[in-house]
Formats: sequence, C-alpha cells, structure tokens
Amino acid sequence: MRIADRIGRLGIETAFAVSAEAAAFAAEGNKVYSFHLGDINIMTPSNIMDAAEKAMRGGKTGYCPNAGIPQLRELLAGDISRSHGIDYTMENVSIQTGGKPVIGKFLQALMNTGDEVLYPNPGFPIYESQIAFQGGRALPYGFVEGKDNFKLDMDAIERQLTPRTKLLIFNDWQNPTGAECSPQELEKLAGLAIKHDLYVLCDEAYYDVRYEGKSVSLASIPGMAERCVILYTFSKKFAMTGWRLGAAIGPRDIIDVITRLNVNDESCTNHFLQYAAMEGLIGDQAPVRQMLDTFRARRDAAADILNSIGGVRCFRPNVTFYLYPNVTGAMERKGIDDLDEFRVALLHETGVSVCTRLHFGRALEGEKDFYLRLAYSGIDIDEIREGLGRFKAFVEG
Ligand code: PLP
Repeated sequence: MRIADRIGRLGIETAFAVSAEAAAFAAEGNKVYSFHLGDINIMTPSNIMDAAEKAMRGGKTGYCPNAGIPQLRELLAGDISRSHGIDYTMENVSIQTGGKPVIGKFLQALMNTGDEVLYPNPGFPIYESQIAFQGGRALPYGFVEGKDNFKLDMDAIERQLTPRTKLLIFNDWQNPTGAECSPQELEKLAGLAIKHDLYVLCDEAYYDVRYEGKSVSLASIPGMAERCVILYTFSKKFAMTGWRLGAAIGPRDIIDVITRLNVNDESCTNHFLQYAAMEGLIGDQAPVRQMLDTFRARRDAAADILNSIGGVRCFRPNVTFYLYPNVTGAMERKGIDDLDEFRVALLHETGVSVCTRLHFGRALEGEKDFYLRLAYSGIDIDEIREGLGRFKAFVEG
C-alpha cells in the first residue's frame, strides 16, 4: 500500500482502545464498571427527538446552506452573545458536525507549515494529532496540582513563546483534569495572547456542564473576541454525543474560511437535526437541569469514595463530568510503578475501567505524579459505589 507520509503524523483517541479492552474483558463474563469514555448514558431529551422527527417528516431532508440553517445560526449567536457578553450575529456562526471538526478546521484556517501552536497536555488528544498532521509544531503546556484545583502551567506557556508561536489552544473546564481558570489566570492569558498576537481556539465543550458558579470565557475578556474561535457543541449539554452537532463561533473572516472548508468536506451538517438543535436551545430546559442534578450526585459519590482510599486524592471540579485523581500513593501501596500496569491490574482485579493521564498525551518532563481519569457521565450511581468500593478494597486489601 502507498499510504501518504502525513498519515504517519495522524494520532488517534486511545480512550477508544480502552473501550475495546473493557468490552473484551466483559465478553469473558466479567463485570465491568465503565469510567473510561466521556459518553452519556442518559437519553437525549424527548422534545429534541420529537423536533428532529417533525423536521424530517416535514421535508427537511435535502441539502441546506453550508454554514447551517440561518434560524439556528441566529439562535446560537443570540445565546452565546447573552452568555458571553459579546455581540455575535449569525455571520459569526458556522454549524459543524460536532465540536471536534472545529479543531482541525481552526488549524486549517490559521496555521501555516512550521507555525508553533501551544496546546494543553494532558488534554484532548485530537489537538496534538491535528497540529502534527497539518505540519505545525505542537508545544505542550501542562497543569500544576494546586490546593483545590489544577492550575495552568503559565510558566510553560510563557517559556515556550517565540515569534513563530501563532496559536493557542485553550480548554477551560478541562478534559481530563476538570481544571477551571481563575479570573486572574484568564486575564494573564489574555494579556499574553494580545501581546504575542496569538489566535486562540477556546474549546468550550463543557461550558454548560456546570454544577456551581458561572462559566466565564476567555473570549469575553476585552480585546479577545476578535482573536478567539469558540468550539461549541450540543453533545454534552443536551446528551447528544451521537447526533454530531456543534459550531465554530468567532470573527467573521475566520468563520467564512471554516464554512469554505465545509463546502469542501461535508457540504452541510445534517439538515433536519438542526431544527432539533433549535428546540434544545429554546425548548424546555428541565431535562438539562435534571441531567446536571444526576451528574452532581454521581460526582459527589465518586469523589467521596476516591478520597477515602489510602494513597488517592481527588478534586471535586464544579464543571465537566470528569475526575482526575492522583493515585501515586495507591500505586506505591500496590508496589506498581507503571501507570498502565496499574490501570490493567485495576481492570482485571476489580472490573473498574478507567483512562489514565497517558491517554491524554505523553508525560511532560519533570512530571512525577500519576493520575487516572474517571468519567461519571456513563455510569449510574449504584455502579459507581460498587465499582469504587472494589477499587478501595483493591488498594487497601
Ligand atoms: N473538546 C473536548 C475537550 C472534548 O472532551 C470533546 C469530547 O469529548 C470534544 C471537544 C468533542 O466533542 P464533540 O465532537 O462530540 O462535540
């Protein structure tokens, strides 16, 4: 086969490999507690499903505009304008087949070969994959464990900035750590972006997956809206991961380029599903609130048990549906010094299936502690209690 050279630079999401491993273990007749994938085991609200069916039966089955239907673009522009305090119109919105495509299209629109791009590591693995695939230089920055939250490693960001650094990928309400920036961190980051003329991808996949407080976007800091592209998704807020609906929202020149990429890639996002998305935005919000209540109870149950395990400590983020416990002490207790070995032993001894730090990028220089990532979006509270009870016995037994 003559596969193109650039494919060698294209990464994968190794969390899907953990799913396959867990499925194989379950197929041997074992009980599995699934904490590995950020999918949701709650149905999409029925009013959204009804709206999809109505639009489909009403004939919305042909192509639609490349940037999405104007009604949805307008609604989303209004919604984000209100939440972010930015004046967006439908010209600032390009509907996408999920949030993920915004990552690659942002880079295609703004990154030249050899440009440097700062991105979070640990972080969503597609950032590094797409930067490398498209011929950029990926500069990772990490997080530092603070008192009650992970902090951006601002030094790593500042240290790596050069005249060739053109872009910053930023994921507040972060997967996998659950990290949320303080207002001071946001100000500092905005100052750096403006000083060094960086364009920023604000990955806001978890903007609305919030249990307390209010999300404040980097794009809302004065001087930033003109250099930020927001990755918006319907996946997490409305339990619509498999529907594949999202948007790029940002300066009109960039959004026009992204829509031109739509013309070349998929023509348009599914037509009738966009009417369902409108129902999500303007319809009954009770199912969304209920889902958040369910997630909050799961988070608390999981964090309580994790923090009761000898050698484990875990923050309780107010956003996302992830926990990122430090298990360095637990590994010492078990006499295991390899993180993946610990993960596999945990799966085989207890059925608890998790991702680790290593599914979110290579460990950075100087990183000494070991972390797991648990998603509680796809597992009910009884199973959380049972599975993590086994985890505790595994470590302490
Ligand atoms: N960004 C982050 C940080 C994510 O965790 C995810 C999904 O897990 C996405 C983007 C993409 O989500 P989707 O393509 O379903 O909108």
